[in-house]
Amino acid sequence: MILEGERLTVRYPGAERPALADVSVRVLPGTLHAVLGPNGSGKSTLMKALMGNVPLAGGEVRLDGRPLEGWDRRELARSVGAVTQTETVAFPITVRELVAMGRYPHLGALRREGPHDRAAVRAALERCDAMSLARREVGTLSGGEFQRVRIARALAQEPRALVLDEPTASLDIRHEMEILGLLRDSADRGISVLLITHHLDLAARFSDRLLLLNQGRVAAEGTAGEVLQEGILEEVYQWPVAVRMDPETGTPRIIPGSRSRGWKSGSDRDRSPDPDQSPA
Ligand code: ADP
Ligand code: MG
Repeated sequence: MILEGERLTVRYPGAERPALADVSVRVLPGTLHAVLGPNGSGKSTLMKALMGNVPLAGGEVRLDGRPLEGWDRRELARSVGAVTQTETVAFPITVRELVAMGRYPHLGALRREGPHDRAAVRAALERCDAMSLARREVGTLSGGEFQRVRIARALAQEPRALVLDEPTASLDIRHEMEILGLLRDSADRGISVLLITHHLDLAARFSDRLLLLNQGRVAAEGTAGEVLQEGILEEVYQWPVAVRMDPETGTPRIIPGSRSRGWKSGSDRDRSPDPDQSPA
């Protein structure tokens, strides 16, 4: 599926600047796009805009070239898997039941699971290392376990596109690497994947293209080499960084520096004296 947002602009009521301004993104089948940017830069808003969950002040979302409004909700639910940043499950259900919800848009009029539905649920639980949690009540899971189960639900859907908002934020190294590996694998199998993340190094390692947002606008877009440059990152994150090629992975690694007197910055905030740096 071609997942496309063209010049998307979103304004929240009462906000002085748009949360998203003129942002375009195009995710082709078989590719993994990472969306990066500081807190509040518009990443989650971009996801909401692409899913039709926030009104647009400008621009258009198209899936396979067809405007989002032309899509039937059920058809959309079969085609696009979404893992939002937060979610609360207010009613008592088991992990297996939650993951099986990914199959709902595929079920027939009788709403009964067939062999293929059951196989999809099982495969998704296995891929997210959540099979041993299947009978647990969702409310009893740890943050990272719940996150893996939510990813499993999106995979059980067998979507053609996946959009995920910081899906590995609460995962340990192993589970984070497994999830990123399976997203890479999903992309390699032809799915269009849009991944919002704060992990610059891992984005460089796993994605085909990177989109860096800053204050609702595109600060940079392209390959890891094009986007992850010291000057660009320091400007966007307002923090000194060094970018080094990692010989192990062959991709850039970002090393955050310490804020020193020598580091110049454009923002007012950074011109205030740093108490740690002043003479005793
Ligand atoms: P990110 O995901 O990059 O951290 P968001 O897309 O969540 O950023 O938010 C972008 C900006 O829009 C922030 O300044 C945030 O405070 C603001 N914002 C997000 N949601 C709302 C909302 N529902 N109402 C008003 N402002 C919002
Ligand atoms: Mg967010």
